[in-house]
Amino acid sequence: MSYKNFPMVPRVIFGRGSFNQLNEVLAPKRLGLNAPFIFLVDDVFKNNPWLTSRISLYYDDRIIFISSKEEPKTSQVDALVEEIILNTKERPSGIIGIGGGTLLDLAKAVAIMLTNEGEAKDYQGWDLVKNPAIYHVGIPTISGTGAEVSRTTVLTGPDKKLGINSDFTPFDQVILDSELTKDVPKEQWFYTGMDCYIHCVESLKGSYLNAFSQSYGEKSFDLCKEIFLEHSNPITDTEAQEKLMMASWHGGMSIAYSQVGVAHAMSYGLSYLLGTKHGIGNCIVFDQLEDYYPEGVALFKQMKAQHGIELPQGICAHLNDEEFDIMIDVSLGLEPLWENAIGKNWKKVITRAKLKELYQKM
Ligand code: NAD
Ligand code: ZN
Repeated sequence: MSYKNFPMVPRVIFGRGSFNQLNEVLAPKRLGLNAPFIFLVDDVFKNNPWLTSRISLYYDDRIIFISSKEEPKTSQVDALVEEIILNTKERPSGIIGIGGGTLLDLAKAVAIMLTNEGEAKDYQGWDLVKNPAIYHVGIPTISGTGAEVSRTTVLTGPDKKLGINSDFTPFDQVILDSELTKDVPKEQWFYTGMDCYIHCVESLKGSYLNAFSQSYGEKSFDLCKEIFLEHSNPITDTEAQEKLMMASWHGGMSIAYSQVGVAHAMSYGLSYLLGTKHGIGNCIVFDQLEDYYPEGVALFKQMKAQHGIELPQGICAHLNDEEFDIMIDVSLGLEPLWENAIGKNWKKVITRAKLKELYQKM
């Protein structure tokens, strides 16, 4: 038995308004006048001086605004890397990702691909990255994915949706400023928040569970219950925003040393075929999983009702057999997730027919 030697984020700032410290954090990391900092920022902040005016640009530093309408693709990472190389005199001093899971994953992937040859798709998998990434900083503006702590960057490539899992993927620095999440719209707040809740349920109910994962998972699960069931104004309340930020962190730490399960395995299928985004996709799947996670799904339905969330229905209604097969292939390919969820004999329980029947309900 060999245990994982898991890398953690070495530096983190937590606090309301801590985004103001960004410039002083970056200053000592500058490698030279021709080695700029590149800020990848969700374009939802494009005309938002409240955020952008606090990013000081010196020399050749640049902000690149990026839409998070679609989840990151390997081709998008390659294009960004090429654009950065063509427009900078020297290798950048650092990449700073500001946004949700989409922007955080893009920042991690770009930082890796600036020092590794070939295309991003070549590194989808486990421990394929050879050279350390350049300095990269993650600043979440919405809470739930755990991408700010994780060892992966999830990318959709030409033939698979799979992360670049490596010791060089985690951020060198994270800034957790809950104030940045204050304008997240309700639906998105719920979907991304439920990603965290589902991480906890899948980790805590999985066969890979251990004391490390459990200690983080239980804390995160309790925070989710407080936030989504007990707070009177959880979206606008400062304390609830801070708690959700920490729930996301702990949820990410929990799965770091265990694994996710059925909802994630099936939602990757939806995402690959239909482009369904991670948060909402997980919710659509999880809503149908009472056989696998009875208590977790019951609480989820309660949270959904309490916040008046209506999930899309019938997104698989028009699909043909070939399309169901594509989703089923993607999903069954995620073997560790199934093994964690069901156990060593999962292949006896999880049949193609079973998955099709579940997808048909969505
Ligand atoms: P996201 O980054 O896709 O953003 C969702 C929406 O919220 C976007 O429209 C964005 O513009 C908006 N938004 C973000 N911050 C906002 C703010 N402060 N105010 C107003 N709007 C705001 O959402 P997400 O759910 O955080 O991330 C999903 C992505 O994360 C997926 O691509 C998924 O694969 C990835 N993910 C990665 C990991 C990991 O460990 N690397 C884990 C889970 C999910
Ligand atoms: Zn997730």
